[in-house]
Amino acid sequence: MKCHVLTLFPEMMEQALKASILGKAQDKQLINLNFINIRDFSNNKYLKVDDYPYGGGAGMLMQAEPVYNAFKSINTEGSIKPRVVYLTPQGRTFNQHIAQEFAKEEELVLLCGHYEGIDERVLELIVTDYISIGDYVLTGGELAAMVVIDAISRLVPGVLHNDDSAEFESFTDGLLEYPHYTRPVEFMGKTVPDILLSGHHANIDKWRREKSIERTVERRPDLIEKADLSEKERKELNYDTIEF
Ligand code: SAM
Repeated sequence: MKCHVLTLFPEMMEQALKASILGKAQDKQLINLNFINIRDFSNNKYLKVDDYPYGGGAGMLMQAEPVYNAFKSINTEGSIKPRVVYLTPQGRTFNQHIAQEFAKEEELVLLCGHYEGIDERVLELIVTDYISIGDYVLTGGELAAMVVIDAISRLVPGVLHNDDSAEFESFTDGLLEYPHYTRPVEFMGKTVPDILLSGHHANIDKWRREKSIERTVERRPDLIEKADLSEKERKELNYDTIEF
C-alpha cells in the first residue's frame, strides 16, 4: 500500500510514523509513505501558502494553487487514479469499516489542512472522500492522517506479526474485544480466569465470545443493534436492561 500525504508539516508525521510496527512495515516495504510538502509548491518568494478569507472572518486559509500543484506532482503507479481523502471535521466519521475499505486500495492520497482549512475550489477539484476522526476540531489534519495511516496499515497483510490479530479485534464483527491477560497468573491479588489456563480451546473461544458481548453491552451498547450476533445470542440478550 502506497500512501501519499500532502501536508505543511511532513517532519511532524515522518518522525512519529517511524516508530514501532509502522516503522518496521516501512522498512519491509509493506507500506510506503510519500510525504509531499505543500509549501514546496508555493509561488510566493516567502513560501507563503495561506491568505485571508474572502468575505472576512477569523484566521487564514490555505490557498488553492499550492495544494493543487502539490497534488499534481504525485506520480501514481501506472494508470491508478487514487482516492483523495481530505481530513476534515466536516467528513464521515472514520471507523474500522472505512479503515478496511481504504486498506484494500493500492494507493491513497491524504490531504491535511491547517489554519482555517483549504480554499473550497481545490477541494472540489481533487477530493473524493471527506473523513473526520471525531466531532472535535484539531489545529491541523496531520494527527488525523496519522490515525488513518495507523489504522489502515495494520490491516495490510504482513504488517502485524500475526494476521489473526487484526481479524479478531474490536469492531471487526461489530463487537468490542474480550479482556486479555498475560503473566503472572496473579497480580495484586487478582488472578487470571481459570478458563484461560485450561488449555481447552473451544471453551476459551466460548468464554471470549461471551465476554466480548458482555463488554459491548456494558461499554458501547450503541453497537449491539448492528453487531454480528447469532439468533441464539440475540435471544439471550436482555434488551430491557441495555441502556441505549
Ligand atoms: N474551519 C474548519 C471547520 O470549522 O470545519 C476547521 C479547520 S481546522 C482548525 C484545520 C484543519 O485541521 C482542517 O483543515 C483539517 O484538515 C484538520 N482537522 C481538524 N479537525 C479535524 C477532525 N476532527 N478530523 C480530521 N481533520 C481535522
